[in-house]
Amino acid sequence: MITPAKRECTDCDGTMHEVKMVDKGHGNQSHPLEYAAVDAMPSFWIGQVPYAGAVAAFLCESCGLIKLYGVPHR
Ligand SMILES: [Zn+2]
Repeated sequence: MITPAKRECTDCDGTMHEVKMVDKGHGNQSHPLEYAAVDAMPSFWIGQVPYAGAVAAFLCESCGLIKLYGVPHR
């Protein structure tokens, strides 16, 4: 799924711009948000959950609504 750079707000018809949602994580590192299946377990070898995709976020500049979309990894 490709998300367009601009969208209209479903609440107020305002203009939505893509924003980056970040997890502060540990220390000073920040990471773009990703999502995984509810029952995804950390990998035995690398200790990481198998992420299914990235999270694309759009913020309405009028009312502040943030919409999130899943963008599956290919
Ligand atoms: Zn809005």
